[in-house]
Amino acid sequence: MKKIKVSLIYPAGDVGKPITYHLVKDFNLVINILHADINLNKMGKLVLDIEGEEEDIENGLKFVEEQGIKYKLFTKTIIWQEDDCIHCGACTAVCPSNALSMDKADWSLTFDKEKCLVCELCVKSCPLNVMCVSI
Ligand code: SF4
Ligand code: SF4
Repeated sequence: MKKIKVSLIYPAGDVGKPITYHLVKDFNLVINILHADINLNKMGKLVLDIEGEEEDIENGLKFVEEQGIKYKLFTKTIIWQEDDCIHCGACTAVCPSNALSMDKADWSLTFDKEKCLVCELCVKSCPLNVMCVSI
């Protein structure tokens, strides 16, 4: 089994295509939608975790392309250098996916990598350069 993170870019007019339905039904893939920016008459963007057999993932991505939808694989990850973090919370204000949040029990920062969209906004927002990008 393999797991990838990918963004799908839908051209205007194509956001209604049931792509995720087909990825699940026809290619046996497990889909987790991390972020959706969909507007019926404009371009749309979906960020997905896709899990399945390597061949099924390849065929699923080929199907996506055949539907006229571009995809981009995430190759980078975000590293939280926890020991240097002062838990100021500044990064949580810019995180669009709630991957970064404050634990209300002790107001410490928590980082849920699974939800991360690798948008890098936290990297720019951290006053101590605690968040960085790894390739
Ligand atoms: S902005 Fe930087 S120092 Fe502040 S909580 Fe986030 S990672 Fe930690
Ligand atoms: S890169 Fe940072 S701001 Fe963007 S989703 Fe990931 S944790 Fe949140």
